[in-house]
Amino acid sequence: LPEQEAFDIEYWLLEEAKLQRMPRPRSLAGRVALVTGGAGGIGSATAARYLAEGACVMLADIDAEALAGTAEALAARHGADAVRRVVMNVTSEEAVTAAFAELAVEYGGVDILVSNAGIASSAPVEETSLALWQKNMDILSTGYFLVSREAFRLFRAQEMGGSVVFVASKNGLAASPNASAYCTAKASEIHLARCLALEGAEAGIRVNVVNPDAVLRGSRIWQGEWLDQRAATYGTDKEGLEEMYRNRSLLKRSVLPEDIAEAAYFLASDASAKSTGNILNVDAGNKEAFTR
Ligand code: NAD
Repeated sequence: LPEQEAFDIEYWLLEEAKLQRMPRPRSLAGRVALVTGGAGGIGSATAARYLAEGACVMLADIDAEALAGTAEALAARHGADAVRRVVMNVTSEEAVTAAFAELAVEYGGVDILVSNAGIASSAPVEETSLALWQKNMDILSTGYFLVSREAFRLFRAQEMGGSVVFVASKNGLAASPNASAYCTAKASEIHLARCLALEGAEAGIRVNVVNPDAVLRGSRIWQGEWLDQRAATYGTDKEGLEEMYRNRSLLKRSVLPEDIAEAAYFLASDASAKSTGNILNVDAGNKEAFTR
């Protein structure tokens, strides 16, 4: 829609009437997205959301087997042409560069990057080894830098702008017990997003963050030792944790991968054309944030 100088109700009523008569175009038709961590919970839910809106998606993940399963399932639903997959470790400069080169060959470029590949780890600081600290920094902080850098290079070469969505964490803003490495790495993702928003704006590159609260269902992070460690930290089990997270939300609801996918869709699409450097918390209204 053209920008209006002043609010004009007649104009908007007419526009609304036109929209109601038209079949809604798929809002990401013709767009290409790279989703890291695409084999897993939030990544695959986001890829499915983008595909439903007409985008082509390349899924990138370190887990070749899970990646193949997810890519095949999505291709069966949305067509083989719309889905590509690449085995990629986000900590490897060579692998990341090669994946973007493949994207350029397969689809001629990229419009959207979802940086989502990640892990979670928990340990009291005095038991946090340098290796564990480094692993968090490598995958979360450096991994997000490497994929963003390649996306920026391609966006600039294309001269068509672009959208970057970081799946960070509410733990990047709020401290969580026994998770200093994870929280610090997530905080760096959020600050990286702000820096990149500043750098990319002139070229039409938007960078925004989705901050999920705990997403227990559908996430493989919550099937590993993170679950046991969190359960031990809070003295409960998986059901108890889910209830704890639900109860601390104002809406008293659990956050699901689809909820994060919806936010990642909004931030990637033109609906958020005038948002950059922003954080969208998807936490069902975390009570703690209201009492700080
Ligand atoms: P998930 O384990 O289901 O998905 C993460 C994916 O990242 C996996 O498929 C994994 O193989 C992949 N991955 C891990 N290391 C990689 C590497 N080095 N290179 C490439 N791929 C790699 O977990 P999820 O819950 O869907 O997590 C997605 C993102 O959301 C992560 O960044 C996570 O930190 C963040 N997050 C999750 C929660 C939650 O409670 N689930 C909450 C806040 C933030």
